[in-house]
Amino acid sequence: MSIQDYKGVFVFAEQVDKEITGVSFELIGKAKELAKDLDTQVTAVLIGYEIADLAEQLAQYGADRVILIDDKECEIYRTEPYTHAIYSVIKKYKPEIVLYGATAIGRDLAPRVSARVHTGLTADCTGLEIDKETKNLRMTRPAFGGNIMATIVCADFRPQMATVRPGVMQKIAPNPDVNVVIEKFHPEFKPNDQYVEVVDVIKKVSDKIDIQDANVIVSGGRGMGCPENFKLLRELADALGGEVASSRACVDAGWVPKDIQVGQTGKTVRPNLYIACGISGAIQHLAGMEESDVIIAINKDETAPIFEVADFGIVGDALKIVPLLTEKVKAE
Ligand code: FAD
Repeated sequence: MSIQDYKGVFVFAEQVDKEITGVSFELIGKAKELAKDLDTQVTAVLIGYEIADLAEQLAQYGADRVILIDDKECEIYRTEPYTHAIYSVIKKYKPEIVLYGATAIGRDLAPRVSARVHTGLTADCTGLEIDKETKNLRMTRPAFGGNIMATIVCADFRPQMATVRPGVMQKIAPNPDVNVVIEKFHPEFKPNDQYVEVVDVIKKVSDKIDIQDANVIVSGGRGMGCPENFKLLRELADALGGEVASSRACVDAGWVPKDIQVGQTGKTVRPNLYIACGISGAIQHLAGMEESDVIIAINKDETAPIFEVADFGIVGDALKIVPLLTEKVKAE
């Protein structure tokens, strides 16, 4: 069998608790572009138990077909049955490209699958495109802590596989007037697919939402002066129904946790509103937030690069301006 026999762009449509993760829709949006360049179709692979009704959503976001594996074995994510499920899909359908979100599940699953099917995997990609001449997938990812961007090609093996960083690709606007083409698939699960038994699932309880899901982000940089001043950002975020994020400088200083860092080595966010307070606007920070719909920058240095990407700029002391904004929002 030659690599020309492999066709189609496949997306692992990750669901957790019967909810499709945001990155799956982003991947379908990107897959659509890649499929156009390859003159082929997008297939979403949906795995779980009693999840058939989710297939329609995948079609609305651009999947031409959904392969549905609906099996009690796959009720809760476990490495072995899911690896076997994707491996079986690859064996049967021979996709040219398979994409996964670089989530906890995607990062666990994709390497196992790549080892099982003897192909390569580029992890944590931030860019994907089809090479016009060779028609190979060019996969770009930050390397050495983001100091270089590596472009990787898997020329001699199929499928070409990548995990993709959440928030980087853009999902397409949903179209409710589509007919979903569902193909049910039943891989045969063998006893050695069940090394792990899930005894209990303990959910993380938090009243905060992930910054990648927030519509409004109030983000602080070194200019906030100290960790205690982040409470001013929390007050403004609460008044706006948003979340607090940060530049890397504050994470490195131990002021705030890493999971709220925005940027090249943090998270990529695309909120409706991003308020940057005391952030200079280094290129590595901009890489994670410049696609936000509206950007407001507050910085006491009028030459700060953050103003180049801001839609609105306030030159002044964030420690004074942020509480005034909070007051104003609360009064509205
Ligand atoms: P600074 O650059 O120190 O800027 C502070 C700003 O606050 C200044 O503009 C100052 O004028 C302003 N200011 C001071 N006081 C006030 C005040 N009272 N009111 C208003 N404004 C005030 N950075 C990230 O953010 N995310 C990343 O993912 C990331 N990845 C990186 C990866 C690599 C490989 C490298 C080399 C760097 C990376 N960085 C990243 C670091 C980045 O280069 C910058 O050092 C960092 O973003 C600076 O953070 P900052 O803007 O908070 O601090």
